[in-house]
Amino acid sequence: MSGLRVRFAPSPTGYLHIGGARTALFNYLLARQQGGRFILRIEDTDVERSTQESVDAILDAMTWLGMTCDEGPIYQSARFDLYRQKVQQLLDEGKAYKCYCTAEELEAKRELAVAEGRKPKYDGTCRQRQDQPDAPYVVRFLLPDPAGEVSFVDRIKGTITFRNEELDDLIIQRTDGTPTYNFVVVIDDAEMAISLVIRGDDHINNTPRQIHLYRALGYEVPEFAHVPMILGSDKKRLSKRHGATSVMAYQQQGFLPEAMLNYLVRLGWSHGDQEIFSMEELIEHFTIEGVGRAAGVFNPEKLLWLNSHYMKSGDPQRIAELLKPFLQERGIDVSRGPDLVSVVRGLQERSTTLVQMAAGAAFYFTDQLDFDPKTRSKFFVEDNRQLFSELKAALAACDNFVEPELETVLHAVIEKRDLKFGKVAQPLRAALTGGAPSPGIYELLEVLGKERVLTRLEAALQQLG
Ligand code: GLU
Repeated sequence: MSGLRVRFAPSPTGYLHIGGARTALFNYLLARQQGGRFILRIEDTDVERSTQESVDAILDAMTWLGMTCDEGPIYQSARFDLYRQKVQQLLDEGKAYKCYCTAEELEAKRELAVAEGRKPKYDGTCRQRQDQPDAPYVVRFLLPDPAGEVSFVDRIKGTITFRNEELDDLIIQRTDGTPTYNFVVVIDDAEMAISLVIRGDDHINNTPRQIHLYRALGYEVPEFAHVPMILGSDKKRLSKRHGATSVMAYQQQGFLPEAMLNYLVRLGWSHGDQEIFSMEELIEHFTIEGVGRAAGVFNPEKLLWLNSHYMKSGDPQRIAELLKPFLQERGIDVSRGPDLVSVVRGLQERSTTLVQMAAGAAFYFTDQLDFDPKTRSKFFVEDNRQLFSELKAALAACDNFVEPELETVLHAVIEKRDLKFGKVAQPLRAALTGGAPSPGIYELLEVLGKERVLTRLEAALQQLG
């Protein structure tokens, strides 16, 4: 057990984004590796934009990826009392003040600053204010030491220094009394004893502000690691233009969680040239220092490649379970078909996603095959009538419908008719599958089973008219 405490702190204003999932994963891996604690905190202080639907979407995605937390989910919306108390503490200590400037006044000041070529920032009008007008106000944090600077050592990016004059008197409580992100994140990370904050580098500008707040509130400052963002293939920030950015969209497209995890971790982290990692290996090898400083580039082909790897090598029993909803979506009733696990075994080698596998499995589960016109004109010809009849008779006489026996039966037909293997196997395969890609002919026969095979050969004969 180590003292490491990390957290993932999504705002429930949408689905779980690829970038968020990667941040969560880095936190998770480190906690598991070091026997630390992984805390899930839902940052829902923005009441207007936070929804239960988004909370559910995020939790579903975490569950799908298998990232279980040790504490949480903890909702910030349940902690408003604590935040109010801390606002009061800063007010009492003279480290924060009420600001009555209206939105219009602030806008006018901003415009003036821009017009005069100054960086717009709050001019401190209310800092010294003694009256308490009966008007709406925000609470601002009084920036300490305006001439000084604030510095921290980022575990990924190295030393980062900001001059305080670049910062502002941060609003910590809105006019409606709700606290703001930068304020509550500090209180929570401190109160939850987070020792290392791993998050996206879009937050790097917030960190100096937060460090001031830690100090003002009398908290210890944690370590930080800011993870570079993810870019699309055109090196622009990853967005929907590059494909789905929601983790669960990939689940719906038939990706396996282990492929997604493996893909996410490699977006910005490497361990030699190794590409395939089991969860155990990730937990063993992951280091924050192994995360590069450069942005990761999203590569959908690589994700597909990883997925086909896991489709091929996955336990057929498990793949079959994961496949069921996709079959259902296609209206396929598995209870009427051959053994699903055997079907999966035959398709694993040639399926990139579960969606593709479900499409490829369709022929197993229907006796009303959709013969494509090419298959029809190539194989369902008068010349093959005799062959189909003989195959049907020979297979009907086969009592033990398993691969070795089926091989003997088929070879007998081949020899009798003095044909090449393909001249028999191809029409037979067409009759059994309608032309869909399929595994080896003996495996196909065995998995379909005698009854289905005979029905399909009969249907092929019907096709001949
Ligand atoms: N809630 C913030 C977000 O979703 C993350 C805050 C943090 O990690 O510090 O961007």
